Amino acid sequence: MKSPVSLAHGRPYLAIPGPSTMPDRVLRAMHRGAPNIYGGEIYEVVAGIWPRLRAVAGTTQHCAIYIGNGHAAWEAANSNLFSRGDKALVLAVGRFGIGWAESARAVGVDVDVLDFGTSRPVDMARVEAALRADRGHKIKALLATQVDTSSSIKTDVAALRAVLDAVGHPALLAIDCIASLGCDEYRMDAWGVDLTVSASQKGLMTPPGLGILWFSDKARERCRGNDLRTPYWDWEPRAFGPEFWQYFCGTAPTHHLYGLSEALLMLEEEGLENTWARHRALAGAVWAAFDTWSGGSPELAMNVPRPEDRGWSVTAARMGGGDATRLREWCEREAGVTLGIGLGMAALPDPAWHNFLRVAHMGHVNAHMTLGVLAVMETGMQVLGIPHGEGGIMAATRALSTR
Ligand SMILES: *Cc1c(COP(=O)(O)O)cnc(C)c1O
Repeated sequence: MKSPVSLAHGRPYLAIPGPSTMPDRVLRAMHRGAPNIYGGEIYEVVAGIWPRLRAVAGTTQHCAIYIGNGHAAWEAANSNLFSRGDKALVLAVGRFGIGWAESARAVGVDVDVLDFGTSRPVDMARVEAALRADRGHKIKALLATQVDTSSSIKTDVAALRAVLDAVGHPALLAIDCIASLGCDEYRMDAWGVDLTVSASQKGLMTPPGLGILWFSDKARERCRGNDLRTPYWDWEPRAFGPEFWQYFCGTAPTHHLYGLSEALLMLEEEGLENTWARHRALAGAVWAAFDTWSGGSPELAMNVPRPEDRGWSVTAARMGGGDATRLREWCEREAGVTLGIGLGMAALPDPAWHNFLRVAHMGHVNAHMTLGVLAVMETGMQVLGIPHGEGGIMAATRALSTR
């Protein structure tokens, strides 16, 4: 019997917002036997990682690495920032803001959430009002997400600092950059951020398994002696050693470190501002395609209306009538491209959940990858009879050629 013809044979492409594509250079750097952890090359690899990690976050301050994913990095942040009963104000624009709030609440932090829904940006006036209402300065830290991967909403971090300063509120500013570091413009020190949280598997192009914190002198001083801190999560030995084993509270994540080291070198070679500009350009191509497709159907739209509120590493979109799931399945089965599901939309009743998808343009991506994804999506819409405006690919190429 003849097999059915599928256009999926060839190199598959996972266009989901993490884990992202790992460069061959990163994979090759990891392909080795176990190194000695009591001396030798791994010490030099780690010595080279610290300055490059600081540069990626735009800080000259402190950095700690954990073996764990983004959820672990949240716990690391909570454990260092708070004592039991301390107050946190969390800004949520999607699933990940809520997730950080839940993880803080679970360890005994008194968490207030300002929830802005899943398709509008943070309303700075509401943040200002909440901070002004806190006359006794009980809020110890303001927690926000630079790009919430579930909604693709971006938060203006510099504007948050400006609000804190305008109100004269001393809360520490802590930002989840897991989906945006190495993708969207981010300047920790210049923007007055006290704690940055990230992980290895998105813009940092390394397998999942490293959670990373960067913290300010101010956060270090103000959080000394917090009672949620345990030996494993404590950022002091991780950032300051002085023994090598203290950086990782035991055995180092050796292979991840080789991979991360290579990925950071790649970012340095490209130049961080060029990396941001590449993400901005590819995002622009995706948005142009969606704008055109939306023109032909009221059921098809990007989740975030205003471009300035959209992250540069992922685009969430709605396609009515369950078309998002149909399109995702077609793209994977017939063309070798896996798109992201509507994360956080799983709480919606069926079939609403099937009306969302996400396209990642995160990390090790270039024009042919992103244009390829868009062209596959347009082909899928044609095959499946999903109503859409004609000419999305033309619009995407225009966006790239005229940027
Ligand atoms: C992916 C992500 C997380 C969670 O990271 P995990 O590694 O899946 O635990 C948290 N916040 C944001 C913004 C993310 O994109």
